[in-house]
Amino acid sequence: MNEEDKNKVKEYSKKTPLYLSRRKFDINGILTEIKCSRCKEFKNISEFSKNKLQIDGLEHKCKKCKMIK
Ligand SMILES: [Zn+2]
Repeated sequence: MNEEDKNKVKEYSKKTPLYLSRRKFDINGILTEIKCSRCKEFKNISEFSKNKLQIDGLEHKCKKCKMIK
């Protein structure tokens, strides 16, 4: 898969209800909060570590949950 195709898949994934249900955006459509996949709480994106492999470029688990194993 080339870069262009990857971006298309990413853009499509960002429009699915599942994706949107786990994100909060401000009035400008900027991502502000993500629902942590472990504690199920909405947290500011600053609470999530960066991960280039993930769709937002951020981890799915918050930093706190990341530390719990
Ligand atoms: Zn968490």
